[in-house]
Amino acid sequence: MLFERLFGPRTPPASSVVHLSVRPQPLPLLMVRNPRARRYLLRLRPDGTARVTIPRGGTSAVARQFVERHAAWLERELQRLQSQPRKPAAWTIGTEILLRGDPVRIEVGPNGDDKEIEGPSSSGYGATSEDDATGEAETVRFGGELVRVSDPVADLRPAIEGHLRKLATRELPPRVLELAAQHGLTVRRITVRSQKSRWGSCSRRGTISLNWRLIQTPASVSDYICLHELVHLRQMNHSPGFWREVERVCPDYRMAKHWLKEHSGLLR
Ligand SMILES: [Zn+2]
Repeated sequence: MLFERLFGPRTPPASSVVHLSVRPQPLPLLMVRNPRARRYLLRLRPDGTARVTIPRGGTSAVARQFVERHAAWLERELQRLQSQPRKPAAWTIGTEILLRGDPVRIEVGPNGDDKEIEGPSSSGYGATSEDDATGEAETVRFGGELVRVSDPVADLRPAIEGHLRKLATRELPPRVLELAAQHGLTVRRITVRSQKSRWGSCSRRGTISLNWRLIQTPASVSDYICLHELVHLRQMNHSPGFWREVERVCPDYRMAKHWLKEHSGLLR
């Protein structure tokens, strides 16, 4: 099926991969045809592959030329990507993560490092069910937060991310409402989600969706995303007028955008 779709005789290839020779290493280039695209588009994805969009009527030869003309840009972006601090795959005791823009270290929580030896109870050896319940509380802490984990030696990331998401779900929607009230806007619904590649979005029906990872960004950055989406309630585009309005409600928005660019790895 997939093979036919990619290489079948009747349809032109939907996508193909070639390798570009750029420094510091050859770069896989994915060529993707998109009949709805109006021009050639080049993008370096966070996974380190380049992607060029071929518009309707375009050819892979022209796409290739287009990419080669922008090889210096790709090299620069690749170097920037590689110099970014990488998010470690697993989180363990000692891992540093961001909370509200500050780096915080994951540490053993209270009781977590107590070595316990069970002595005899008044009725002799052998744990009661009550002892079992109290003996299993293992916690880790980071930046004033305390998280219960089943095994502090395992990857702590699922438990901690779950906790961060809970914090975000509690804190972000009230903040959006507060900002909306300040600027006389009405938002119908706010959801906190786990988007892969965006910090927030606004639907035509007036629902604002925010990425829970905003709890990891400084408040000014998280506010910028909330305001950006709120302004979309008035303008569903990124026109100069939209950006003027963003600047009016969030004068430092360029700094926030810069921070997000520097920390795009958070979304990976
Ligand atoms: Zn937008």
